[in-house]
Amino acid sequence: MIGIIGGTGTSSLKENYPIIREENITTKYGEAPTISILEIDNKEVAYIPRHSNGHSVPPHKINYRANIEALNIIGVSQVFATNSVGSLDTNIEPGSLLIPDNFIDFTHNRVCTFFDDEVVHIDCTEPYCERLRQIIISSGRVHPYGTYIATEGPRFETGAEIQFYKMIGGKVVGMTGVPEVVLAREKQMCYGSICAVTNYAASIYPHKLTITEVVDAMKDCEEKLIQIITKSIKKSNDNLNCECQNTLEDAII
Ligand SMILES: [Zn+2]
Repeated sequence: MIGIIGGTGTSSLKENYPIIREENITTKYGEAPTISILEIDNKEVAYIPRHSNGHSVPPHKINYRANIEALNIIGVSQVFATNSVGSLDTNIEPGSLLIPDNFIDFTHNRVCTFFDDEVVHIDCTEPYCERLRQIIISSGRVHPYGTYIATEGPRFETGAEIQFYKMIGGKVVGMTGVPEVVLAREKQMCYGSICAVTNYAASIYPHKLTITEVVDAMKDCEEKLIQIITKSIKKSNDNLNCECQNTLEDAII
């Protein structure tokens, strides 16, 4: 089954498709938000709101393990995730989408693995599924590459931090991409992220964006997200044969 992990500003995503049923799943890591099974292109697609029902959980408090485990339990093997981000590059404008091909992790207070009781080191050279990335890239107008900088939050970054992130090659910055992508990988799922650029990060642009500009950018992104996810799901194949499924075989144990 295909899954969607919906981030900030994507609640209308599920309103665009018929809901077949809803699932409430309690995992050994805790209760997951209600998962809606939607019908998209005659396929059953599982939608989970990352920040829980009602957008109530801040990024640093999200139970990422429960979310991924719940999707795994209901049989999700490929995930399209949406993440709101700030741009580190004036060429990556608010309102546009970027499909990250790598990340650098600056989070420091999160549970980041399912392997707490055994020694397992998964390869993360290319952390995002390249097959899903190509499907997404071919489904809409996007920035096809870029390194995602993951921060702890909930505060926004300082100007000095942003200049540093830019210097080391970051293109966008956000608080929700990691450890989610890693946990999906540990469950041998295919995982692709669609980053919605809602603003320029601190100190990138000479003037601060107004609230109206940010709201307009979010609206732009939301419409584009619905289109690109719908197209991507149409192109996705259930009988996938992807190397993400062999992540644990190749892990150092
Ligand atoms: Zn894959």
